[in-house]
Amino acid sequence: MSAETEPTPQIPRDTGTTREVIRLDQVTKRFGDNTVLDQLNFTVDAGKHVTLIGPSGSGKTTILRLLMTLVQPDEGIITVDGEQLYPAPEKQVREVRKKIGMVFQQFNLFPNMKVLRNVTEAPVTVLGMSKDEAEARARELLELVGLADKCDAYPTHLSGGQQQRVAIARALAMRPQVLLLDEVTSALDPELVAGVLDVLRDIAHSTDITMLCVTHEMSFARDISDQVLMFDSGRVIESGSPEKLFGDPDHERTREFLSTIL
Ligand code: ADP
Repeated sequence: MSAETEPTPQIPRDTGTTREVIRLDQVTKRFGDNTVLDQLNFTVDAGKHVTLIGPSGSGKTTILRLLMTLVQPDEGIITVDGEQLYPAPEKQVREVRKKIGMVFQQFNLFPNMKVLRNVTEAPVTVLGMSKDEAEARARELLELVGLADKCDAYPTHLSGGQQQRVAIARALAMRPQVLLLDEVTSALDPELVAGVLDVLRDIAHSTDITMLCVTHEMSFARDISDQVLMFDSGRVIESGSPEKLFGDPDHERTREFLSTIL
């Protein structure tokens, strides 16, 4: 067969079954002289649950804050569901940002609003959802987080764990494609942690939402993660399945870190 007639080597086709929902290309973030993220690259596919672990100060929360547009990178490109979040015009940033929901360490509920209104407020004011539709959806979500009977309570009358579950319902009410979870149990009394993690496990296992978590709760990370990324000094030094990363890590730094928290 001559060179001209030789078939072109076949590159496996993208079957369309995976879709990148988060993509960071060469993202650098500095605070003054402190380079917190150093030309970071990573992607998260739709429906996957990815957990970021690593020592305090290694840049994990900064990644979530970049995705929430609470801080801006100094260099690099951030793409969410195929649309650029950074750099991008302000109008585009506002639209792309709607695809992302976040639950923080501190629940930050509106203290002057009852639980139901805490969950309906953003869908009505930001998404333009009708009040009836937003309330129906909020009631479903409050049931999902085990708080169907607390619709009329004010946040201050709830435990920290209950408040955090309202915050989870509130984030989901915006129908985000991506849920960012930043140490969501670290401000809770120990006896309230399990209830919040159980709700998140349920959501991880029963919905197709993409999750990016920062957590020190390693058994939770092991349970829900498809992939775990180990951070050190603003770089991913190792990534893999939870079985591999927790059971047989390649990197000495990972072993050291795990020995301090497991
Ligand atoms: P992690 O979540 O891994 O603990 P962070 O992303 O919170 O790490 O912080 C990474 C580094 O960035 C730390 O050294 C922290 O002090 C610094 N940092 C984070 N936010 C700010 C800020 N707004 N101003 C100055 N430094 C910051």
